[in-house]
Amino acid sequence: MLNFAVGPVMMAPEIREIGAEEIPYFRTPEFSALMKENEEMMCRLMRAPEGSRTVFLTGSGTAAMEAAVMNMFTPEDYVLVINGGSFGARFAKLCRIHHIPYEEILPERGKGITRGDLDAAAGRGFTGLLINIDETSTGVLYDMEMVGGFCREHGICLVADAISSFLADDFRMEDWGADLVLTGSQKALALPPGLSVLTISPAGLDRIESHEVESLYFDLKDYLKNGERGQTPYTPAVSVLLQLHRRLSDLTVRGLSAELSRAAGIARDFRERIRDLPLEIVSDSLSNAVTPLHPTGHYADGTPVSARKVFEILKDEYDIFVCPNGGDLENLVFRVGHIGNLTAGDNEKLVAAFRDLMRRGLL
Ligand SMILES: *Cc1c(COP(=O)(O)O)cnc(C)c1O
Repeated sequence: MLNFAVGPVMMAPEIREIGAEEIPYFRTPEFSALMKENEEMMCRLMRAPEGSRTVFLTGSGTAAMEAAVMNMFTPEDYVLVINGGSFGARFAKLCRIHHIPYEEILPERGKGITRGDLDAAAGRGFTGLLINIDETSTGVLYDMEMVGGFCREHGICLVADAISSFLADDFRMEDWGADLVLTGSQKALALPPGLSVLTISPAGLDRIESHEVESLYFDLKDYLKNGERGQTPYTPAVSVLLQLHRRLSDLTVRGLSAELSRAAGIARDFRERIRDLPLEIVSDSLSNAVTPLHPTGHYADGTPVSARKVFEILKDEYDIFVCPNGGDLENLVFRVGHIGNLTAGDNEKLVAAFRDLMRRGLL
């Protein structure tokens, strides 16, 4: 199997081996020490400011999104949501569910936002901003330096979903002035799903400490308190945390820049290989995590090639996963992910499959 989805992704053999082991009991000094190291390494790789904390939640990335909204904001806040696709829409939905007043900026599909878009919202009393650094559904990477600058100038609390951009794109939590950044285990961390991670700046920690949260499981104060001794309030995803420790240790040795250039290299290699194929890249601000593609060819009967069909045939006949799109883009766009344990050789195999589809009149 070859997996070019945007999560879960291909995992390194040494990570899979840890997943095959029995799971140790975790209320031990040994596991606490490992968790303290996980927190330290994560804060460093996030390039978080001094005094930041990281907590680990058992739940997919959306659990961290919900925890972030619930713990960082209250009905007294007024939040600006950048909604450029299905993950931006999820932040808006979370605000509705938790009665947080919000407004949305709805960028054109496949486009980023400009300073002008944000300036138009200035002076209207916004206290928070929610953004998905890479809106994975459309493959758009936002300009975080610009967004961070805007938030700093206007004293706005910045909460960023880095679920697909962490370890794929350049990442500087402190420079951006982000108060909380979150990610999930099954994207560029290349671990099994089930674990999400929130890194919180000292200003973000103050916000959390001053809010009451109407939830048992999602009250981050409990996670912060337990984290001081390397523990979690409830049973964590123990084996994923052991895998995380291995992954973060490797990254710490190799360096973040090396990982980012590797990720950029895989994305660039793929985009070069498809230049002469009937596939149009439909984003003008690409993340290294994913390439959104619109098939431009036609079948023998003159109807346009369906993106959904390309996904299905690759899965059923070539044992290759790409990522289908949902909603009104279902037949128009599919996405090829570049995160996880992929090589240029894997790109070559996918492109060979595309060429075979062309030969068969299916692309
Ligand atoms: C994958 C993803 C999510 C959702 O994560 P789940 O793990 O499926 O809950 C949220 N935001 C972004 C940007 C993502 O790429």
